[in-house]
Amino acid sequence: QSITEFFGEYGSGKSQLCHQLAVNVQLPPERGGLNGAALYIDTENTFRIERIMQMAKHVGLDPDEACERIIYAEAYNSDHQVLLLEKADRVIKENNVRLIIIDSLTSHFRSEYVGRQNLPERQQKLNKHMHKLLKLARAFNAAAVVTNQVMARPDEFFSAMAVLPVGGHVVGHVSHTRIYLRKAAGRNVRIARLVASPYLPEGEAIFRITENGIEDLEQEK
Ligand code: ATP
Ligand code: MG
Repeated sequence: QSITEFFGEYGSGKSQLCHQLAVNVQLPPERGGLNGAALYIDTENTFRIERIMQMAKHVGLDPDEACERIIYAEAYNSDHQVLLLEKADRVIKENNVRLIIIDSLTSHFRSEYVGRQNLPERQQKLNKHMHKLLKLARAFNAAAVVTNQVMARPDEFFSAMAVLPVGGHVVGHVSHTRIYLRKAAGRNVRIARLVASPYLPEGEAIFRITENGIEDLEQEK
């Protein structure tokens, strides 16, 4: 019933995580799932059914069934993205959707509303869009996950976090949980840093992106 945001630079694993979550939500609760379907709103055309099949196989789900339990929609622009979510109530209810993914939340908004003069309108639309997402998550007892790109911080040249998520305070305030993804040394190794949570302290976890999907590296540390 809340929104989790993954932000990070290109290739940091945001979309890979979304794929993995769309599979994992289908697992029974004792295996960390919600026994439900996923709604996947894709704005960058990076969703790959082959990847879902690989991941599904690895967790012991029937690959075809796993694909059928992911309701996929491509958003062509920000208005379309907003509309897809506005009309999602029925599809969520009828398919027992327990996870709503928007990958990426901000890409269309960022490319369509360029320049300072368009910023207020962009932020207002983004705010409304996120509140609709929150409403759906609450109404249908679902998890919501969004991805977000980062931009360089003009004021911070030497900082542990020299990047900032796009969307400013609007996205930051409506996302309850924010996780910063970055590349690390080692083949396909990534670090996920929890930077905001209503009930957990800041912390980091290491994972690897493999053929099988997202694999925890915590035990090997
Ligand atoms: P963007 O901001 O461009 O959308 P992203 O954060 O969504 O980037 P992903 O697409 O999730 O990035 O991650 C891409 C990375 O995932 C690739 O660089 C590759 O290292 C890894 N990857 C993708 N598929 C596989 C696979 N089948 N096996 C191993 N690694 C993979
Ligand atoms: Mg991506």
